[in-house]
Amino acid sequence: MYDLGDIVEMKKPHACQTNQWEIIRMGMDIKIKCCNCQHIVMMSRKDFEKRLKKVVEKSIEADK
Ligand SMILES: [Zn+2]
Repeated sequence: MYDLGDIVEMKKPHACQTNQWEIIRMGMDIKIKCCNCQHIVMMSRKDFEKRLKKVVEKSIEADK
Protein backbone atom coordinates (compact mmCIF):
# COMPACT_ATOMS: atom_id res chain seq x y z
CA MET A 1 0.00 0.00 0.00
CA TYR A 2 0.96 3.60 -0.47
CA ASP A 3 0.16 6.69 1.51
CA LEU A 4 0.64 10.42 1.63
CA GLY A 5 4.29 11.40 1.90
CA ASP A 6 5.63 8.08 0.66
CA ILE A 7 8.43 8.00 -1.88
CA VAL A 8 7.52 5.84 -4.83
CA GLU A 9 9.12 4.55 -7.98
CA MET A 10 7.10 4.57 -11.18
CA LYS A 11 7.38 2.29 -14.19
CA LYS A 12 8.77 5.17 -16.19
CA PRO A 13 11.22 7.69 -14.78
CA HIS A 14 10.55 11.38 -15.15
CA ALA A 15 12.01 13.25 -18.13
CA CYS A 16 14.80 14.43 -15.83
CA GLN A 17 15.83 10.76 -15.39
CA THR A 18 14.84 10.66 -11.75
CA ASN A 19 12.57 7.88 -10.64
CA GLN A 20 11.71 8.97 -7.16
CA TRP A 21 8.42 10.68 -6.51
CA GLU A 22 6.78 11.90 -3.36
CA ILE A 23 3.04 11.51 -2.95
CA ILE A 24 1.85 14.99 -2.03
CA ARG A 25 -1.89 14.57 -2.40
CA MET A 26 -4.28 11.68 -2.08
CA GLY A 27 -7.90 11.86 -3.06
CA MET A 28 -9.91 11.11 -6.15
CA ASP A 29 -6.73 12.16 -7.90
CA ILE A 30 -3.19 11.62 -6.79
CA LYS A 31 -0.45 14.18 -7.06
CA ILE A 32 3.17 13.17 -7.10
CA LYS A 33 6.22 15.40 -7.08
CA CYS A 34 9.52 14.55 -8.72
CA CYS A 35 12.16 14.44 -6.00
CA ASN A 36 14.77 15.95 -8.27
CA CYS A 37 13.15 18.80 -10.21
CA GLN A 38 9.99 19.29 -8.10
CA HIS A 39 7.78 18.81 -11.14
CA ILE A 40 4.26 17.87 -10.11
CA VAL A 41 2.10 15.34 -11.93
CA MET A 42 -1.55 14.69 -11.23
CA MET A 43 -3.34 11.53 -12.25
CA SER A 44 -6.32 9.45 -11.30
CA ARG A 45 -5.86 6.82 -8.64
CA LYS A 46 -6.44 4.17 -11.26
CA ASP A 47 -3.68 5.53 -13.49
CA PHE A 48 -1.40 5.89 -10.51
CA GLU A 49 -1.82 2.26 -9.53
CA LYS A 50 -1.21 1.23 -13.11
CA ARG A 51 2.03 3.21 -13.27
CA LEU A 52 3.32 2.54 -9.79
CA LYS A 53 6.29 0.22 -9.60
CA LYS A 54 6.97 0.17 -5.89
CA VAL A 55 7.02 2.15 -2.70
CA VAL A 56 10.61 3.01 -1.89
CA GLU A 57 10.17 4.63 1.46
CA LYS A 58 7.30 4.93 3.86
CA SER A 59 6.82 8.41 5.26
CA ILE A 60 5.54 7.51 8.70
CA GLU A 61 5.45 4.32 10.66
CA ALA A 62 1.70 4.35 10.91
CA ASP A 63 1.10 0.64 11.22
CA LYS A 64 -0.91 -0.29 14.23
ZN1 LIG B 1 11.97 15.45 -12.59
